[in-house]
Amino acid sequence: MLREVDPEIATLIQAEEHRQARKLRMIASENDVSAAVLEATGSVLTNKYSEGYPGKRYYEGQQVIDQVELLAQDRAKALFGVDHANVQPYSGSPANLAVYLAFLQPGDTVMGMSLPMGGHLTHGWSVSATGRWFRSVQYEVRKDTGRVDMDDVRALALAERPKVIFCGGTAIPRTIDFPAFADIAREVDALLVADIAHIAGLVAGGAHPSPVGHAPVITTTTHKTLRGPRGAMILTDAAHAKAIDRAVFPGLQGGPHNHTTAAIAVALKEASQPEFRDYAHMIVKNAQALAEALLERGFDLVSGGTDNHLVLIDLTSKLIGGKPAAQALDRAGIELNYNAVPFDTRKPFDPSGIRLGTPGVTTRGLRPEQMPLIADWMDRAIAAHDNDQALDLIAAEVEELLGSL
Ligand SMILES: *Cc1c(COP(=O)(O)O)cnc(C)c1O
Repeated sequence: MLREVDPEIATLIQAEEHRQARKLRMIASENDVSAAVLEATGSVLTNKYSEGYPGKRYYEGQQVIDQVELLAQDRAKALFGVDHANVQPYSGSPANLAVYLAFLQPGDTVMGMSLPMGGHLTHGWSVSATGRWFRSVQYEVRKDTGRVDMDDVRALALAERPKVIFCGGTAIPRTIDFPAFADIAREVDALLVADIAHIAGLVAGGAHPSPVGHAPVITTTTHKTLRGPRGAMILTDAAHAKAIDRAVFPGLQGGPHNHTTAAIAVALKEASQPEFRDYAHMIVKNAQALAEALLERGFDLVSGGTDNHLVLIDLTSKLIGGKPAAQALDRAGIELNYNAVPFDTRKPFDPSGIRLGTPGVTTRGLRPEQMPLIADWMDRAIAAHDNDQALDLIAAEVEELLGSL
């Protein structure tokens, strides 16, 4: 059908499908969704407007949509063990904006982890609306450990008295200490928000401690380790439910993306199966095996290793920038992103590091015994970064491995 209507786009989609199939997809925030999630995403639910919430809509014809959204809510509540779930945020960034709208006034103080230290733009980084319209104070990691020091966080919170504290981020290879953040938030009377966008699947599968009971408000994307469609959720206790719902609609958004809601429901069902627990734990085992293999090959890892799905490499000792390394690796069939490392001396568009993760390759079926192979390929590709022939040779080996799975 698509091929007849729009052969150009059909060809491009097919090309992307082939590209994904023959690459080791190691961007830490990406994954491969199931055929069931894809099918829900491509359904007629995309035709429907349904501003409001189940039972309180501004458009007619919600007999089916209400059931879809209620199912998604119920599954999210059961999987994470929370009182309330809003499944309407269009993505992780608007989900976080809803938190600002719900609990802060412009100019109020918000505290988050600084972007180059592993935080997210929406946790108050200067170029983001959250850093421009709010007074943002940012915690960092320690230079000697590459980890957040909770004494530093506490001191900053006591000095700046933020109304909201964000924990979580996009390039944090270590376990987030939710109880310690909760203690600090309590001490300064701040609202603790746990942004578990990257680790939601690990939390759901029991491979990372849960923020529930520590953070009354939890934001997450649904498309990273959780392996659902591009979307987001906000999970809250009963006390913060109403403020969040009002902030999402009508505060920030119009009609929810119902096809996405359905696909989120499917992903939540998949994540509640026993096999998903195995999957979540295998992601971490793979990341730890990869980290070990990289260390053995002289790579310098931020914080010295990983507790979760991601590895952050400082390439300074390999005498190459993150960007040329990432480009060479992409040519060699290993897809990841260049990334700032803590206390980076290079520019954000050409930083010192690369970030990679194992959610995607774990979905593909790779196991810890194959991680040294990946580390070898990475080592070879970085050494031969300006030799296209050598890179193409590695890409062929990658393709062979993926073809054998
Ligand atoms: C990915 C991410 C987001 C933003 O999600 P988008 O869907 O890209 O808007 C927010 N917070 C954290 C910690 C993330 O990793």
